[in-house]
Amino acid sequence: MQGKIAEVFKSIQGEGPYLGKEQIFIRFYGCNLKDCKFCDTELSSFKEYQPRDLLDYLKSYSDCRFVSLTGGEPLVQVDFLQELLILIKKAGYRVYLETNATLPRALGQVIDNLDIIAMDFKLPSSTGLRDFWAEHEEFINIAQEREVFVKAVICNSTTLTDIIKATELLAHFNKNIPFILQPDTSSLTRELMHKAQKFRIYCSEILSDVRLIPQMHRLAGVK
Ligand code: SF4
Repeated sequence: MQGKIAEVFKSIQGEGPYLGKEQIFIRFYGCNLKDCKFCDTELSSFKEYQPRDLLDYLKSYSDCRFVSLTGGEPLVQVDFLQELLILIKKAGYRVYLETNATLPRALGQVIDNLDIIAMDFKLPSSTGLRDFWAEHEEFINIAQEREVFVKAVICNSTTLTDIIKATELLAHFNKNIPFILQPDTSSLTRELMHKAQKFRIYCSEILSDVRLIPQMHRLAGVK
């Protein structure tokens, strides 16, 4: 089985609680939410890999054993991912999955070989898309078997109603799951930070670990 991979590179994690950690990024090609406006990177091409060939490529970064699966949406290629994960876990890598958290069944297929799940809440007022609360609920129910944290992009259109819904959903599962509010880097102003800070204060009354962290890799202009 072959997987479509847009790129593989080593860099520093630019988001969330693992900020600054060195990782090998495997950027999967393709996403099920094509109209979402918060993509880091325009993915216009890909290379096809057999799982074993991709593992060999990872091994060329001999000084790093921490892999970030990102995209695109890695879970779109779940059968390939399942084969790949068996190999990379056997080889001793720590695995971090970056996901839009809308494909819970696919997560269930690979959860045993994941270490850390960085899941997004796609807030309808931020994305302009329909809501994914039902998918996120099913997803987090499975993800909590592993280390998990949740991120949400905060932009000028983000509403308190969505923040309340996100907070209630998290609190329903576990108040200690970290919730990362991520101000949109492309429109980062003092006003937006102020708004995000107000949301952080609201969420912190209910959840125990709420953090305000912009996307540092984009601010620093690195990949
Ligand atoms: S869900 Fe993530 S990968 Fe998919 S289009 Fe949106 S930002 Fe890009």
